[in-house]
Amino acid sequence: MAPLQGPEPTPNYEETMHNIEQSQMATPPDTRSQSPVSPRDRTKVVVVGLGMVGMGFIEKLLDRDSVQKQYSIIVLGEEKHVAYNRLDQQTFTYKTSSAVTKIDRDAKKVHTAEGAYPYDICVLATGSEAVKPKTIPGYDAKGVFVYRTIGDLEEMIEYADKVSVGEGKMKQAIVVGGGLLGLEAAHAVQDMEKFDKMTVVHRSKWLLSQQLDQQGGDLLTQKVRDMGVEVLLEKQIKEIHTDDNGAIEAVTYMSGERCECQLICFAIGIRARDDLGIDCGLGDASTWRNCR
Ligand SMILES: Cc1cc2nc3c(=O)[nH]c(=O)nc-3n(C[C@H](O)[C@H](O)[C@H](O)COP(=O)(O)OP(=O)(O)OC[C@H]3O[C@@H](n4cnc5c(N)ncnc54)[C@H](O)[C@@H]3O)c2cc1C
Repeated sequence: MAPLQGPEPTPNYEETMHNIEQSQMATPPDTRSQSPVSPRDRTKVVVVGLGMVGMGFIEKLLDRDSVQKQYSIIVLGEEKHVAYNRLDQQTFTYKTSSAVTKIDRDAKKVHTAEGAYPYDICVLATGSEAVKPKTIPGYDAKGVFVYRTIGDLEEMIEYADKVSVGEGKMKQAIVVGGGLLGLEAAHAVQDMEKFDKMTVVHRSKWLLSQQLDQQGGDLLTQKVRDMGVEVLLEKQIKEIHTDDNGAIEAVTYMSGERCECQLICFAIGIRARDDLGIDCGLGDASTWRNCR
């Protein structure tokens, strides 16, 4: 597996605010950009989250604003990494490891642990997060992961590196969910080459049951099995058992069997990350319109 890139350098809060102030101090005409709008008069757009949606939004805005240059854009992203970097980062300010904790709509500021950023327009592009099944006892044990961000993958790799089992025992990993992400996660875990046995547990009758009919699903299931992955269909985990350190040691299925394993990755769905919007009075994601 190719090594993951380290964190991108990102200016701290003071530097960011200083850079913004400096650019706004520049007096018109802005000869470099030929923009008729003075930097200090530009509309401040704060984008929260730089996933596909945040990126798509910025791309469109920059494209439409290429002549006028009436917007200045700051992106605040909580991840350490730039997940999508197809944009020229000179055209906007991007801060990694910068989670927005609160939006003050009266003061028109978004807050992070480092400080507050003023905005004229705030765009929430906070996406979604993978869910863990809170109804399963042990769902939060050491060794339980989800598959969503580069951070999730890094944590999984680090954990898998440390897993050890007794003499003569097999190292086993389980991915729960036989949808697109579950199969991708299974591939990632298999690529780690840390486990002797890899199992995909799916509650429906065939893999990719949302996308394929049974005939296609059966063919795919056989292909996946041919790749050395055990596929358990119409199966659900009832309980996750842990050792004295709170680390996974086994699961019990609804059907009663117990199976030893050291790592579980859930790929069973996502939920909208709409807490910021709810907290600032916008309602949940289904009702978001704007946050002026
Ligand atoms: C492993 C994997 C593979 C995928 N493969 C494909 C594929 O091949 N093709 C495809 O079309 N789709 C694929 N998807 C789905 C695709 O990634 C999502 O549909 C897409 O990422 C959604 O974009 P988004 O911008 O809405 O959300 P996200 O990508 O989730 O981005 C939201 C960003 O906002 C950040 N954020 C959230 N809250 C805050 C906060 N308070 N402060 C600061 N930042 C915050 C998050 O950290 C995140 O970086 C894949 C998904 C995964 C997990």
